[in-house]
Amino acid sequence: MKSLTKTRFAPSPTGLLHIGNLRTALFNVLYARQQQGVFLLRCEDTDPERSKEAFLQALMADLRWLGMDWQEGPEVGGELGPYRQSERSATYDTYYQQLEEADHAYPCFCSPEELALSRKAQRSAGLPPRYSGKCAHLSASDRQQRLDDGRQPTLRFRVSNDSVTEFEDLVRGSQAYSGKDIGDFIIRRADGSPAFFFANALDDALMQVNCVLRGEDHITNTPRQLMILNALGLPKASYGHTSLILGQDGQPLSKRNGSRSLKELREMGYFPIAILNHLARLGHHYRDESLMSLQQLSDGFQLSSLGKAPARHDEFQLNHWQKLALAAADDGAVLSWLEAHAPEGAVLRERVPAALLADFIGAVRANIAQPAEAYHWAEQFFSDSMQMSEDAQKVLHSSPTVLFETALALLPEAADFRSFAKAVGKSAGVKGKGLFMPLRAALSGEVHGPEMGQMFPLLGQARVEQRLQQALRLAKIGAES
Ligand code: GLU
Repeated sequence: MKSLTKTRFAPSPTGLLHIGNLRTALFNVLYARQQQGVFLLRCEDTDPERSKEAFLQALMADLRWLGMDWQEGPEVGGELGPYRQSERSATYDTYYQQLEEADHAYPCFCSPEELALSRKAQRSAGLPPRYSGKCAHLSASDRQQRLDDGRQPTLRFRVSNDSVTEFEDLVRGSQAYSGKDIGDFIIRRADGSPAFFFANALDDALMQVNCVLRGEDHITNTPRQLMILNALGLPKASYGHTSLILGQDGQPLSKRNGSRSLKELREMGYFPIAILNHLARLGHHYRDESLMSLQQLSDGFQLSSLGKAPARHDEFQLNHWQKLALAAADDGAVLSWLEAHAPEGAVLRERVPAALLADFIGAVRANIAQPAEAYHWAEQFFSDSMQMSEDAQKVLHSSPTVLFETALALLPEAADFRSFAKAVGKSAGVKGKGLFMPLRAALSGEVHGPEMGQMFPLLGQARVEQRLQQALRLAKIGAES
């Protein structure tokens, strides 16, 4: 019988969730669901200085907001907890002891200064920095003496020079690492806290995680982790190291080139479904390019569709999903979304007359990705002091005055925008772009935007007239200059 698939997300709560670690979490959620397995959340809070409870709380709220629920972990519990590493010291002690007793690990008394010097010497000799092995063979009495001197050792895992650790990466295929390039490494720090390699690998084994999808920056940690598990005779998960995410400039994604925290994305007004569709495609290929639910994204998730090439995060692409999400939402949901993300000091119902609210939403929803854009359109439609963009001014300066003179003359008979524009074009002898662009610029102050047909009735005749007069003045100035 095939065993249950168990994946996990194991964040260190030292900051907010951002595009990179969220994508890692999402792949694990998708694969667990696709396999009808379990997704586990583990809090890797072994660094007491940097780990903050508030970050864990924020992270859990973010995952829940996206619908990425976990079936085992903090708050939901499970039989293999506790799920915070800061509560697992007793377990770690048992396994340190086991490794020490079997001579797989030994106390190391080298100070950080000594180690730094040794690394420097190796680097200048052109060698990869690895532990010199100074404490690898201390006698029992030498160890005791150092302990009696009050020195706090680290615990180092012994790596044989002739060993080769091989594994089949789920994304990158066969991997092989030679022990002599790795050297003995620390599994318990001098302050008693577990090193990442150790706690992370051990917890995966003890929590029965059997599939780990994580960023490729962890791939060189994997041989160390496999060595520890081999030495302890514990089961090993399959590992898949997903490609790096790059920013628009082709550099690894960071704050500088477009990475954002989920908190920021939430505040900006992105829909969960838009974020999920964007992230799921950063390094995973779906043939279906439509907006998918979390369940559909899971159903279509395949390890073989994970790419080795770096993925590129582009906010333009995120906005594409946002627009599809917006198109799929009903008007009521769009209204609540707009009101929940009002720009500072702005109240939608104060900007838009109540009787026109539904029509206004109908007119703008296809043209926006963020709530702020709708507020901008509300200002453009309903304020007497419409902002005129530079592009719109340029268009009006180079438009024939006859166009606006005709429009003003025909306005009293205008029924809808289409027939009005047609009649104006016919009388003034202009058509196509030369007709529609000046009218759009005159009436909306912009050269792109919502459908004129929907916008026109919202403006009302008096405002249309006033804007056509303004356009006529600008066209005259243009004609004179
Ligand atoms: N706590 C580690 C991190 O946040 C987990 C890495 C892993 O997924 O194994 O980078």
